[in-house]
Amino acid sequence: MLKHLGHPIFNVVKEAAEDLSLEVFVVGGFVRDAILNRPCKDIDFVTVGSGIALAKEVAKRLKNATEVNYFKHFGTAHIRQNDWDFEFVGARKESYTHDSRKPAVEEGSIQDDQNRRDFTINALAISLNASNYGALIDPFEGVKDLENKTLRTPLAPEQTFSDDPLRMMRAVRFATQLNFTIDGDTLKGIKATASRLDIISQERITDELNKIIAADKPSVGFKLMFDTKLLHQFFPEMIALQGVEERNGLKHKDNFYHTLQVLDNVADKSNDLWLRWAAIMHDIAKPDTKDFTDKEGWTFHGHEFVGSKKVKSIFRRLKLPLNDKMRYVSKLVLLHLRPIALTKEIVTDSAVRRLIFDAGEDIDDLLCLSKCDITSKNERKVKRFLANLVEVEGKIRDVEERDRVRNFQPPMSGEDIIKLFNIRPSREVGIIKNALKEAVLEGEIRNNRDEAINFVLKKGKELGLSKA
Ligand code: ATP
Ligand code: MG
Repeated sequence: MLKHLGHPIFNVVKEAAEDLSLEVFVVGGFVRDAILNRPCKDIDFVTVGSGIALAKEVAKRLKNATEVNYFKHFGTAHIRQNDWDFEFVGARKESYTHDSRKPAVEEGSIQDDQNRRDFTINALAISLNASNYGALIDPFEGVKDLENKTLRTPLAPEQTFSDDPLRMMRAVRFATQLNFTIDGDTLKGIKATASRLDIISQERITDELNKIIAADKPSVGFKLMFDTKLLHQFFPEMIALQGVEERNGLKHKDNFYHTLQVLDNVADKSNDLWLRWAAIMHDIAKPDTKDFTDKEGWTFHGHEFVGSKKVKSIFRRLKLPLNDKMRYVSKLVLLHLRPIALTKEIVTDSAVRRLIFDAGEDIDDLLCLSKCDITSKNERKVKRFLANLVEVEGKIRDVEERDRVRNFQPPMSGEDIIKLFNIRPSREVGIIKNALKEAVLEGEIRNNRDEAINFVLKKGKELGLSKA
């Protein structure tokens, strides 16, 4: 394991611990990622004794540590150096009483500390002690599980998950991030304990959820959360998407699996977490708007409006930010059918201009979502829809090139109009301003000041105004 100890910090920690006569180990994520050859800039050190005392001794020896923080209450310390994070903690032994969420923590050995870790692959330690510097300490065959790509709890699954139910979300997150399988008994443990997730704060659940969404193939995690019923605990709107109904021989598609396909498609094209959230939400109101008529078959009329309205309440409950990210997701949900709708008619410039105006700077993301939304099993259909969308894309580029409506600013402001007629701010100003915007979007006039002045004068005249 010596090859993983290349960073100079390891030697510093070793010497600091020797001076204090403490035993020290590297544990957890860093060891796992080193063996997997994944980049990792967080290193966790466990000492049998005081983590804070060790961190102080280490900090003394580091000249360019930018930040040192001590958390007395938790007995931990954190040092930041360049873009590396070093965490120091004393080895602990944990015991939980069933009626309490708070573990009783006491000092323990390195073995005790490994016992309380969530998965065998996260319970690996490397010794930094003189007697066996660089030795791997692997009490639960974590390396074997790394080789077999398996997630398994060190102790009994149900106990492990019931002690800290967040570990169930972590299991799904690691399975998705690392492309690992959850061992059969561990999976059973999650299924049996899923309802205990309700004692975990939504912020911590959402942290794990966002890591699942940020993975290469997020559907893996959603399918696992669905099958174990973890998803049912905090995201019933997604559960409601699942299922297929048939009437008069007509079936609609399963919107849960469709949504996951769209999400994976988006993940292939973009790392933007919020574009991925837009994929998750795009059909969220289909269950609310579902209808069947003999004439039309299955319909979901207005699901884009209802869905865009639901984004806020879902974001609020999931403790996602209620800022411009939320508005962005809501906007994409609202507009998600527009590019495809454009392909179904003869595309006029004004329709294209309106779409660019409504989407603004998010037009490229909207087109991406639209393309990813094509998930038919019929290859010819997919090809045809995609070709249509590419055509729309071309039109958008043409119109944008000519008219620059993406960041549309009307060629005259309300202020300009007031000055032109020398009037007070009034209802007429609003009417003229809106007519001007419509005229530009409809292509009646071009997006420049001369044509705008002419138009505004004419419109003013109709309202009984004359130039000052
Ligand atoms: P990442 O840094 O990618 O989130 P990680 O495994 O390093 O993954 P951290 O949250 O940094 O996760 O935790 C560091 C280590 O602490 C883990 O490897 C694991 O050994 C332990 N750990 C973290 N959270 C838990 C938990 N809820 N239950 C048990 N052990 C945990
Ligand atoms: Mg970590």
